[in-house]
Amino acid sequence: MTTISNIDLHCHTNASDGGFTPREVVLRAYGRGLNVLAITDHDLVAGVQEAVDAAAHYNALLREGSSEAPVETYIKPTAEIVKVENGILNREPQDRQLTVIPGIELSTGWRDEQIHIAGLFVDIYNEDLLKLVATRRSSRMERALAISEKLDRVGIHNAYERCAAKAQAGASITRGNYARLIYEDGLADSIDEAFHKYLRRGQPAYVQTEWGPISEAVEAINAAGGIAVLAHPRRYNISNQRLRKLIYEFKECGGGAMEVSNSQQSPLDRDYLMSLCVKYELYASLGSDFHNEGIYRDLGQNLDLDPSLPAVWTAPQAERFMSKDFKQRLVHLTYRKEYEEEEAEEAQKAVKHEEDHEREQE
Ligand code: AMP
Ligand code: MN
Ligand code: MN
Ligand code: MN
Repeated sequence: MTTISNIDLHCHTNASDGGFTPREVVLRAYGRGLNVLAITDHDLVAGVQEAVDAAAHYNALLREGSSEAPVETYIKPTAEIVKVENGILNREPQDRQLTVIPGIELSTGWRDEQIHIAGLFVDIYNEDLLKLVATRRSSRMERALAISEKLDRVGIHNAYERCAAKAQAGASITRGNYARLIYEDGLADSIDEAFHKYLRRGQPAYVQTEWGPISEAVEAINAAGGIAVLAHPRRYNISNQRLRKLIYEFKECGGGAMEVSNSQQSPLDRDYLMSLCVKYELYASLGSDFHNEGIYRDLGQNLDLDPSLPAVWTAPQAERFMSKDFKQRLVHLTYRKEYEEEEAEEAQKAVKHEEDHEREQE
C-alpha cells in the first residue's frame, strides 16, 4: 500500500541535486495534497525564497478561487498524473494551503561517515548560517571540480559544466548531479549504478572531502533559530551501537530532532528509529528526500509518524511558521491509497533493492 502524508520535511530542488525548480517542487506538492513542505537542499538555502514566494502566490489564488489555482491531483508513482475525484482529494481550497518551511541539509563528517544534518525552521538570512554556507560552497566547488577532472580521465568530459548548466545558477553540485549525468550519458543503467561504477569510495571519480564536525552544523542551525534534525539515520553504514553513539553526541551538541520516517524504509527500521527517538528524547521528523521523478521516492510518499511521538512541528522553533490552529489540524496526517496491490509489491521489491545498494554507497 502506498500512502501520502500531507507533511514532508525533506526534499531537494535544482538549487542542489533535485531535478525541479523550487516553483515546480511547490506545484508538485499541491498536486499531491501536501500542506507542509520543507525545502532542504544540500549545503545552501538558495532555493528557499522562490519556494516560499511560489506558495504565497498559489495560496492566494486558492483563496480567491482563481481558475489558475493549483489542482489537487494524485501523481502516481509511475509519474502518470491522475486526477482523483473521491477520497480526500478535491478538498476545499482552504484545506489545500501550503506552508513552505525554510530548511537546509548540511554535510558533516563524523568518524569515517558522511552524516547529514537537516536544519528546519531556519532564518535563511542569518549571518552564522550564511557563513557556514559560504564555507561549504567553496568545499563543494573544489570537490565538484576535482570529481569532474577525474571523470574527464575516464572519458566523461565537461561534467561540471554540463551539470552546472542544468542546475540553478550557483547550485551545489553534488555526486547526485554527476550520477544523473552519467546515467543520462548512457554509461550506467541507473543512478545507483553510476555511483557504483564511478562515484563511491574506491571508484575512479571518488574524491575525499573533509566536511566540518556535526557540532558546527548544529550550532549554525540553532543560531538561525532552527532545529537540527539528524537526517535518514538508517542510511549510514554503521552498526546500531554506533548509531546510538552518533545520536547521543548529536544531542549533546544541541541537536533537537531525528527523522523517524523516510520514504524508503522497512517497518522494522521505522520501529527502531521510533524507539531511539523516545530514548534520546528528540523530536520526530519525517521526510521523503525527494529529488526527481521516480517510483520510490516522491513528495509525502510513505511517510508516517506515530501520533505518540513528539512531532517536530510542535517544537518551539516551528512557532514562527505555524499558527496553533494550523498545527492542531496538522496532527492528523492524511493518507490515501491509490495503487493496486500488485504495483505496490513491485515497488516494495524495488525499494529493497535500492536500499541495499544505498547502504553500501560509501
Ligand atoms: P554528495 O553530498 O556530493 O556526496 O552527494 C550525495 C548525494 O548523492 C545524496 O544526497 C544523494 O542524493 C545521492 N546519492 C548518494 N548515494 C546514492 C545512490 N547509491 N544512489 C542514488 N543517489 C545517491
Ligand atoms: Mn541529494
Ligand atoms: Mn541526505
Ligand atoms: Mn536529502
